[in-house]
Amino acid sequence: MKLIELTIKEAHEGLKNKEFTSVELTKAYLEEIKKSDKEINSYLSVDEDFAIKQAQEADKKIASGEFGVLTGIPCAIKDAILVEGQKCTSASKILENYVAPYDATVITKLKEQGVVILGKTNLDEFAMGGSGENSAYGATKNPHDTTRVAGGSSSGSAASVAGNMACFSLGSDTGGSIRLPSSFCGLVGLKPTYGAVSRYGLIAFGSSLDQIGPIAKTVEDAKIVFEAICGKDKKDATSANFQFSISNFQLKGCRIGVPKEYFVKGIDPEVEKIIKSAIEKAKDAGAEIVEISLPSTEFALACYYIIAPAEASANLARFDGIRYGLSEKADNLLDVYLKTKGNGFGAEVKRRIMLGTYTLSSGYYDAYYKKAQEVRQLIKQDFENAFEKVDLIFAPTSPVPAIKIGERTEDPLSMYLMDIYTVSVNLAGLPGISIPAGKTEGLPVGLQIIGNHFQENKILAIASQLEKMLK
Ligand code: GLN
Repeated sequence: MKLIELTIKEAHEGLKNKEFTSVELTKAYLEEIKKSDKEINSYLSVDEDFAIKQAQEADKKIASGEFGVLTGIPCAIKDAILVEGQKCTSASKILENYVAPYDATVITKLKEQGVVILGKTNLDEFAMGGSGENSAYGATKNPHDTTRVAGGSSSGSAASVAGNMACFSLGSDTGGSIRLPSSFCGLVGLKPTYGAVSRYGLIAFGSSLDQIGPIAKTVEDAKIVFEAICGKDKKDATSANFQFSISNFQLKGCRIGVPKEYFVKGIDPEVEKIIKSAIEKAKDAGAEIVEISLPSTEFALACYYIIAPAEASANLARFDGIRYGLSEKADNLLDVYLKTKGNGFGAEVKRRIMLGTYTLSSGYYDAYYKKAQEVRQLIKQDFENAFEKVDLIFAPTSPVPAIKIGERTEDPLSMYLMDIYTVSVNLAGLPGISIPAGKTEGLPVGLQIIGNHFQENKILAIASQLEKMLK
């Protein structure tokens, strides 16, 4: 097996047994990036010197005998998460030359573990999108089929791992952005419970929805990274006092809910077949399959596409040409704003800002934003009711496998439809994972496992048992 194909666990064993050094491992990834990323476009920046320096530090730690499972493991970070001293663009022209002045808390935590950060990965501009095509720096291609998208918004975080250009990565998920690209790229992606991981140092999109989480090759790897980054942070008031504990929860006796509203018109028949067969396998292993109802599902997309743009319009107001990044010259202040935002933001970001300011404006606030908040409560309630009857919920991650590049870019609504199975989880603040469930015509299909608040351990235990059966 090649070094770049190893999982975190395997690479750790190799480092521990002195089969190779972190510098060798890091160089192997850097070489692969040079070879393959011209085509895939998963990285927006790679800092070789920084990576090698971190690897040397890690090798010292390993030699001293005091090291952890992540020490010396090379990873990739979504370019919406701040790494001190490195550019952080959020794949926007408005932040083209912005250099992060501090580390996000997740980065501080990973650095404490001695990871090696290879570089910053591509995404839909400001994480707004489902295909990765809204990046100002070009779409990321899917390593399984380069005529197709990697999925978004954490497109580069998924493609770098799927393309063996990082051992694992961090993404962020506001409405599916970790789970969807993981599904499209055949990986494991965990969107933690709202508050389980600090958002300090994540460029905000929808503050009541955003969460950072891992993308990895195996459930065990995702667990390792999640454990390293979770927990209370005094710099993020919404972070929770959460301690991860290992669970030996088993498929046998597990009550699994299958929402009847999720298997209706619009889902690709092959995807449906793969998900249903995964559910069958869980049943064969002793799980009890329960049909459940999430009646507000039909309003989830409308609700999300009011709340997320509303929060985005408020969050993005700070990019005014004065405080951060791009600043266009003009004769008066208003023109500075107009020119900076006009030239700095891409079409999708402008669309969201306009939608958001409209739904928050007086006269429309009650009809749109307030109504959407009420619907959000109904969606939460649906899940609360469901979790009285079941332990976990199984669902598709996406109604379709990876789409062709350009297939849906002309029609934003058709793009938003890909989020049908993921947005409710964020609206309800729940944890969800996507794991590979099979392939159709060579394209990976993800199974989504949703749990109750802070039950990542249950999700991970079941996902880990299932992953072996779905191989
Ligand atoms: N595709 C969704 C959107 O465009 C979700 C994005 C995300 O999770 N960051 O808003």
